[in-house]
Amino acid sequence: VRGEVVIYKKDFAAINERRESLGQKLLANPRNAAAGALRQLDVANTQQMPLRFLAYSLGEARWGQAELCHFQHELATRLRDYGFLTPPDGKLCADPAAVEAYVESVRQGRADFPMEIDGAVAKQDDLEAQEALGFTARAPRFAIAFKFPAMQVHTRLTGIEIQVGRTGVLTPVAQLEPVAVGGVMVTRATLHNEDEILAKDVRVGDTVIVQRAGDVIPEVVGPVLEERPSGARPFEFPHICPVCGEPAHREPGEAAWRCGNISCPAVRLRSICHFVSKAGLDVQGVGQKWIEQLVSSGHVTSPEQLFRLTVQDLLPFARMGDVLARKIVDAFDDARHNATLARLISALGIRHVGEQTARMLAAHFHDMDALAAADTQRLLELPDVGPEVASSIRSFFESPANQHMLAGLREAGLWPVAAAEPAEAVGEGGPLQGKNILFTGTLSMARGKAKQLAETAGAVVLGSVSKKLDILVVGENPGSKLEKAQSLGITVLDEAAFLNLLADRMDA
Ligand SMILES: [Zn+2]
Repeated sequence: VRGEVVIYKKDFAAINERRESLGQKLLANPRNAAAGALRQLDVANTQQMPLRFLAYSLGEARWGQAELCHFQHELATRLRDYGFLTPPDGKLCADPAAVEAYVESVRQGRADFPMEIDGAVAKQDDLEAQEALGFTARAPRFAIAFKFPAMQVHTRLTGIEIQVGRTGVLTPVAQLEPVAVGGVMVTRATLHNEDEILAKDVRVGDTVIVQRAGDVIPEVVGPVLEERPSGARPFEFPHICPVCGEPAHREPGEAAWRCGNISCPAVRLRSICHFVSKAGLDVQGVGQKWIEQLVSSGHVTSPEQLFRLTVQDLLPFARMGDVLARKIVDAFDDARHNATLARLISALGIRHVGEQTARMLAAHFHDMDALAAADTQRLLELPDVGPEVASSIRSFFESPANQHMLAGLREAGLWPVAAAEPAEAVGEGGPLQGKNILFTGTLSMARGKAKQLAETAGAVVLGSVSKKLDILVVGENPGSKLEKAQSLGITVLDEAAFLNLLADRMDA
């Protein structure tokens, strides 16, 4: 049975009331709270949350949904009869106009739903027709989602706090008089950057319009000028880092002020959080809260230290028991053994190097030493690497602090090579599954490496050009194979296009 896990608005309010009375940080919204509860390592933590499962369809049914019952609305009744909680509303509509009228009535009544909703879904009622319609690459053809506009309210801007992110960027955050937006209390909202504050002309003391949609961070839309108190002054963006006190800089053409202090405690904390996050090594099941505690208590000052933690190191922390400590140590151990080079590169947080670029670099360089040794010229030859990315990669590896950190990672045993890549990056099937491929001419990478990349992507490497060949990858001075392939109408790619093909398909 397939469905969705939610937290009801009244339950969410109760959780936050309790957290407030205990002096704990308030949860931002029910959606993230529910997702976070499901990701907890310790089931006891999950059980503390008032999660509800709302069933709305069958996943893999052995005999097919259409044979179990014939209509979507019938399925909802069945699920309820079996004892499942189902979404609280729903209506069988005879035609598109009826669907639109119903969606509108849901939109108007959205505040009365027990859980937050950000839209409604219309589904083809006939389950056989659903099966016949099937899916596109990313969505079912038998269902349409109607998204509701963001909800807006007015409240007072009591202050503007400056937060320091992973790259040292200073981000202004609006402090708001608590206000309910669609049943959820909002106390903070993003203001993005200095220009945004100036453009919107929001001033401390203003009544502001705040909007929020789903799990998106609430946003300040603008001030209500008629209600501006006399004496409200334009906000002066600070030119020093509020955490370490070092001067901040705003480079020409950039919107952001940055703290340039590489040992700024805020930058360090956010970098380490990024290192283990989904965009980094994707360490499973260690809450950000624990990372924050480890860093702010001074136990961890650099990512590699996470991989040296022992149960004894962790036990002194409040609410930490043997079982949880063991799980955390194991989680880092797992990450150490399963990390791929692509993930590690992405985890380093090199500016302008996101997950896709990290995959391309891993596929190309094979190991971290080769990447670290690559000069600007060499980097610029790669697909998707421009001067900005190349110089960012160079300056990362030239920094003594980063070299020290990399040495620590190697020592801690976190030093994957690209050979470990395919299982994670490509997954079952592989992007070149069933393709026959051949390399000719001089490639910038070793021929063996190119073959390995192709094979792990699912291709078969042939020895000569024939009608069976699907792709010919040509390097410099390709010779007669190229002519023959062209005469047979076979797809011819250069090395960059070949790597792009791998990266793109992996990404998809
Ligand atoms: Zn700083």
